[in-house]
Amino acid sequence: MQLFDTARQAVVPFEPGPEVKMYVCGITPYDSTHLGHANTYLTYDLLIRRLEDIGHTVKLVRNITDVDDSILPKARELGIDFLELAAAETARFHGDMVALDTRPVFNEPHATQWVAEMVEMVKTLDEQGHVYNVDGTVFFDVSTFDSFGAVSGYDEATMIEYAAERGGHPDDPRQRNPLDFILWQPSLEDEPSWPSPWGHGRPGWHIECSAMSKGTLGDTIDLHGGGSDLIFPHHECERAQSEAANGTTFVTHWMHCGMVAYEGTKMSKSLGNLVFVSELSKIADPRAIRLALMRHHYRSDWEWFDGDIDAAAELLGRLHVAANAPDGPDPEPYAERLRAALDDDLDAPAALAELSALADGMNHGGSDESAPTILRELAALCGVDLTAPPAPLD
Ligand SMILES: [Zn+2]
Repeated sequence: MQLFDTARQAVVPFEPGPEVKMYVCGITPYDSTHLGHANTYLTYDLLIRRLEDIGHTVKLVRNITDVDDSILPKARELGIDFLELAAAETARFHGDMVALDTRPVFNEPHATQWVAEMVEMVKTLDEQGHVYNVDGTVFFDVSTFDSFGAVSGYDEATMIEYAAERGGHPDDPRQRNPLDFILWQPSLEDEPSWPSPWGHGRPGWHIECSAMSKGTLGDTIDLHGGGSDLIFPHHECERAQSEAANGTTFVTHWMHCGMVAYEGTKMSKSLGNLVFVSELSKIADPRAIRLALMRHHYRSDWEWFDGDIDAAAELLGRLHVAANAPDGPDPEPYAERLRAALDDDLDAPAALAELSALADGMNHGGSDESAPTILRELAALCGVDLTAPPAPLD
């Protein structure tokens, strides 16, 4: 199998051992799962299905960021405890993942339950001279880590621009370098806090994933994923602190998904242009949602149109009819090409085209009685169980 590696900027062989350690950054549970999230998690789900098809065991860790700079203000705005908000939204997220029939996770660490490990990691970084403390806020000093920038490959100006947009504070006068980032900070009066050598406070965003990844999968993982908006600063900072603390390679392969737009611009909470999985599931079979997302290559940025779901529902109906046909054409060439497409940088659109072509061929007859079984197997490999008939569109 070959996959694009963000750090190497090339499609390279992905050849893990029998057990694949995969960490995908999870949700901050303060709002519902939208199609951008679904697109990301279904991409890794497709990869997992193909890896399992080849014979690998996959240990997927997908965390829940239940304490960070975005959930606390939202809980304050709603006047509820942040853990209450997190529990409700996490339950909704689980419901969406079940509806979309994703493969189970090996572990789903919640950030609030791993704070002691985060503190340990910051202590290690402190002992090794990678941090400085300004009145209880502990910063990572990027000048102590030579290969900062190796994940994103961005120049300094771009890194500063993205840091400002995505949770960093390059203008903070307490920082020695605009790209330094927070490992630990004092909590505001109404915010949760934990004890640490630097006073009561809470962890920075990036250290959470570094500590949870180490705690669940060990120092080195085979593949780290997430949306392309996490390349910088989140994943760049994760790598810097993990490698500085652990003294070894953090991630062998970096894989990122493109962004989904709606109404002309990237789906985002602040703009309110979100399409929620739970809402779409009310009018469409969740398998059709999956098929609709598979029409786009994982690395591309693309736009969702309301009519996309109708086209996908039509395909789901056609696949279901074909799966119940008595026979069809020889399915093996389709199966070979479908698997080859997945192995070629997870080319979901090409795989989907093979599935659709086989269904078309079956609807035109043939004499191979294995065709319906193989079609069902190939659909399942793509995450679509054709056992039940499609739910009607409202
Ligand atoms: Zn993360």
